[in-house]
Amino acid sequence: MAEPKVNELMEKIVSLSKRRGLIFQSSEIYGGINGFWDYGPLGAELKRNVKELWWQSMTRDREDVVGLDATIITHPKVWEASGHTSTFSDPMVDCKDCRGRFRADQLEGTPCPKKPSKMVTECSAEKTAPRAFNLMFKTYVGPVETEDNVAYLRPETAQAIFVQFKNVSEVSRQKIPFGICQIGKAFRNEINPRNYTFRSREFEQMELEFFIKPDEVAHAKEGAPGEDVSTDSPEPNWGWKQWHQYWVEQRLSWYKSIGLPADALELHWQSDDELAHYARATVDIMYKFPFGVQELEGVAARSNYDLTQHQEHSGKSMEYFDEESKARYIPHVIEPSAGVDRMVLALICNAYHEAMIPNAKGVPEKRVVMRFDPKVAPIKVGVFPLLKNKPELVDKAKCVYDMLKVHVASFYDETGAIGKRYARQDEIGTPYCVTIDFDTLGEKAELLDTVTLRERDSTEQSRVPIKELLSILKAGLGLP
Ligand code: ATP
Repeated sequence: MAEPKVNELMEKIVSLSKRRGLIFQSSEIYGGINGFWDYGPLGAELKRNVKELWWQSMTRDREDVVGLDATIITHPKVWEASGHTSTFSDPMVDCKDCRGRFRADQLEGTPCPKKPSKMVTECSAEKTAPRAFNLMFKTYVGPVETEDNVAYLRPETAQAIFVQFKNVSEVSRQKIPFGICQIGKAFRNEINPRNYTFRSREFEQMELEFFIKPDEVAHAKEGAPGEDVSTDSPEPNWGWKQWHQYWVEQRLSWYKSIGLPADALELHWQSDDELAHYARATVDIMYKFPFGVQELEGVAARSNYDLTQHQEHSGKSMEYFDEESKARYIPHVIEPSAGVDRMVLALICNAYHEAMIPNAKGVPEKRVVMRFDPKVAPIKVGVFPLLKNKPELVDKAKCVYDMLKVHVASFYDETGAIGKRYARQDEIGTPYCVTIDFDTLGEKAELLDTVTLRERDSTEQSRVPIKELLSILKAGLGLP
């Protein structure tokens, strides 16, 4: 089938996401609020699945990473130390004609607020010189609104990890190298939110700070691996280059494991002009969105900049005593930092397919099938009685649904023709549907207590005994 045009494709994705309850505009009944999005019933499930898979792979599956759940508002000195108060800004220009404000380095592709069919780059009206606009949202803590009480909504989850580094390393009894990971909300007052949820003002991050030995300590160890070592299995005395490469590879293979194809993912090594002054290397993991190849996650080698800054600003030592090498040092860090919302958007874009599928009369019809990987699909199985006016079928179907729903996200549906019900589930990416019919009740004795199991992508149907249903589904869904 011919590929839909890019904007047309995004329009279809946005409209499907609203119609089926993946993503809504925040405060829609009041006209919405730019840069804020809500996740509907299915979006909430999809997002939760992504976060759980990340958490599982980052900490529960590993012995060397522990979790943290820190506050959104912190002591404002955290942001002074990290440099956000002085430098977390984007260059902003104003248009002297329409009064629109734009990110100076992203004028391309930004529509003019006065004439939305035209891009700002085509407008000849005079613009102001770029000036720095700090992206942090400000608020006041307590009842008095003075400069002394200013606090910020965190623009990233990472800093709280650095601030709690000492506490976590003590209580977890982890030894360097080890990591601390966190999932949580972050806020950035983006000048021009755009590309649907891709650039939002409130979003969620999943970040890992993986603390490693400084190279001089790691390499001082006799028999420590050199630079060209294979990064297949971690070694405590790797230097930052190996650990950085290792995390890029880990993260890339995780994206593939949740269904993003290798040919839609790219690595972008930041050039010297793009790199933050403290970063030794940063690799952006990019996804081919319908609106262009854009960043999903950054994997940065951040030296020991953050812990050093917090040590200086708080006056508290961030040093670590390494019993193995008897060295005292401020650990260095590798940071894979991902955005949940961008990941969810990539999964939605990747899942969107239009297919010709025969309707009840056997006539092929154009239909949307969301080909989510079963691991992330919001609903794993739809359960239907063939007819809703036959209590025996309904009772049996509800029994099957009750049995399944405690194990996998299930959906019971009795309305409309069976073909329509399959179509509804295809459109939200449900990998399996189960139909209970008269044969289930024993109309054909040999089929008693069997059901029809339909697979989304092949549309193939098979007859399976109810007592084997759960294990067959679990195998198909990749569950233990
Ligand atoms: P960009 O260059 O696209 O603004 P960034 O390099 O500033 O992103 P980081 O500070 O490295 O982003 O944040 C880490 C991750 O957090 C990003 O890779 C992205 O997935 C997510 N993220 C950052 N800003 C936003 C945003 N405004 N909306 C949604 N997700 C975001």
